[in-house]
Amino acid sequence: MTEKLFHSNPYEICTDAKVVSLEKKHGIWELVCDRTVFYPEGGGQPADRGTISGIPVIDVRKRGDVVVHTLELHPQCNPGDTVSMELDWNHRYEYMQQHSGQHIISAVFYRALGIGTLSVHLGESYATIETDRSEITDGEISQTEDLVQEILCSNMPITDQYISQEEMDDIDLRREPQVAGTVRVIRIGGYDAAPCGGVHVGSTGEVRLVKCISREKIRGHVRTVWKIGQRAAADYRELTDITLQLSTLLSVPRDGIISRVETVLEDQKRLQLHIQHLESSLAVNLIAQMSNRAELVDHVRIVSETIQVSDASIIRHMNALLPQDYPLVFCCVCISEQSLRWLIGVTGGVQIDFSAILKEVLPIIEGKGGGRYPLWQGAGTRAEGAEEFTRKIRRWIRQYLTARN
Ligand SMILES: [Zn+2]
Repeated sequence: MTEKLFHSNPYEICTDAKVVSLEKKHGIWELVCDRTVFYPEGGGQPADRGTISGIPVIDVRKRGDVVVHTLELHPQCNPGDTVSMELDWNHRYEYMQQHSGQHIISAVFYRALGIGTLSVHLGESYATIETDRSEITDGEISQTEDLVQEILCSNMPITDQYISQEEMDDIDLRREPQVAGTVRVIRIGGYDAAPCGGVHVGSTGEVRLVKCISREKIRGHVRTVWKIGQRAAADYRELTDITLQLSTLLSVPRDGIISRVETVLEDQKRLQLHIQHLESSLAVNLIAQMSNRAELVDHVRIVSETIQVSDASIIRHMNALLPQDYPLVFCCVCISEQSLRWLIGVTGGVQIDFSAILKEVLPIIEGKGGGRYPLWQGAGTRAEGAEEFTRKIRRWIRQYLTARN
């Protein structure tokens, strides 16, 4: 059995320990000592990090009563030797804050609002608490945050206690223990008691701050997401920076940010409609200009041109605007700085199929796309090939129309 110093004194950062066993398994070393400061993963809390005799500990697991440390390299010791253990204290302390914060939030949920905790996860950037409720209101979250903050400010002691089965009935446990026999219980002053094997800070004041940052529905239950301790303080700093930057960018005090953003979004929507209208007018003009330059072959007008535009997406307006009152075969490649789009449309009852010729000419513009009578369209990436593409299409249309007689 390994002596668990992380339980008897969670603030012990380093210790000497005697090696009980050292084995190589699947290329990594498994080290067991008579005592350890390393908390093994469990109860939603991740394993501790740190070093043993200078070698990084990559994982810590509980195996029955024994704590197994996993090392990538041989720690240069043998059973019976003494090794020195040292924790990554910043990592450990952060998770002590997370775990204690989570107990306090779950306690307030349960004792003040009757909300049960189904599962918890202490993640790398936030903690989540899945509740047994399908709805939780903004007011309930605010009430929880306020009550939690009162508990933090009153700096209640957080202690552990080992309780036998017989003593269990005398204690108001927040949830049933998952193991039989003697159970370790974490007490938060006289406010809460819950079975737990994790590592906690010594008093509620050390949790410093908690803030619910979001909530979501999962498996029909509300899962709440929390920033706890240093993370909550860092999050508050980040939000303040964002607010200040928005305030400067929009030239409004912070209580005017929302209404200014609403105005900007409405303006954007209006401008978008205006741009669409202008693009449509431009497309009509471009089609008219190209049709005027059209070549006439067997009573059919042929247009096949490459044009430079500021935004190639204007081509999406063209297919709907092609004139329907005379026979026309229309091929256009629109090139802007960002993209290349192509369109072929046939109107006025001309029977012609571009599927075969497109296979031949699309590689010239490294193009993709297709379609079926009377419309083919797509995009390309090789603008240098655009003139050759439209020239070949024009020649093919001319030959096709001449040959059909
Ligand atoms: Zn716990």
